[in-house]
Amino acid sequence: MSNIELKPCPFCGGKGCMNLEKDCICSYVKCISCGAESGLVKVSAEYCADERAAEKWNRRYEEV
Ligand SMILES: [Zn+2]
Repeated sequence: MSNIELKPCPFCGGKGCMNLEKDCICSYVKCISCGAESGLVKVSAEYCADERAAEKWNRRYEEV
């Protein structure tokens, strides 16, 4: 797994943690403190789902 920088949670400032949902094979970032999620990114051979999920998470932080 590549080293992706995750910004703090936009809601509580907690640490974001990369997760993999096994059933539908999706990556997402979840706050370990309040449980906020980035939204699911389907794993694909065409792109790195972890990076996409990190982008969604980081963009959310910038919007708040
Ligand atoms: Zn949080």
